[in-house]
Amino acid sequence: MPIREIVTLPHPSLRRKARPVTKFDNSLQTLIDDMIKTMRAAPGVGLAAPQLGVSERVIVVEYGDEEDETVPKKLYALVNPELKITSNETEVGVEGCLSVPGLLGEVERSLAVTVKGLNRRGQPMRIKARGWKARIFQHEIDHLNGVVFTDRATRIWKPEPGEPALDNV
Ligand code: ZN
Repeated sequence: MPIREIVTLPHPSLRRKARPVTKFDNSLQTLIDDMIKTMRAAPGVGLAAPQLGVSERVIVVEYGDEEDETVPKKLYALVNPELKITSNETEVGVEGCLSVPGLLGEVERSLAVTVKGLNRRGQPMRIKARGWKARIFQHEIDHLNGVVFTDRATRIWKPEPGEPALDNV
């Protein structure tokens, strides 16, 4: 299966705690490939398996440098990711979500995180992220726990026509 449908609220998989992956088999490889294709087609910078109606702990993130567009994009596929907050500082930023179309919100997130998990072959990996990238990982891992950004947002609004589009996650 190539590009899959992105489910939106009130789909139940967006409200469920997703199951840990135990088998690194062909169906996991297909899921990850489809998630990457679907994220790119959306287009988005991150996607969690529950957004495809699959209640498993898998996320993909693809993002370049916030300030420097010449830095090539980096693709991450993470299985059973765990988030560790590595800064006491937080930052309020605007988020949108492919599964909550038509709304934006201001969300306070930790400025820096370390994400530990497994790659698609089951080997351990660890990613340090700050700023917008740290925000994407926090948003995606929330999806694995049945949380969407509007649950955390301090302010939610419908974007005006012509309001610049955000990177979707
Ligand atoms: Zn989202």
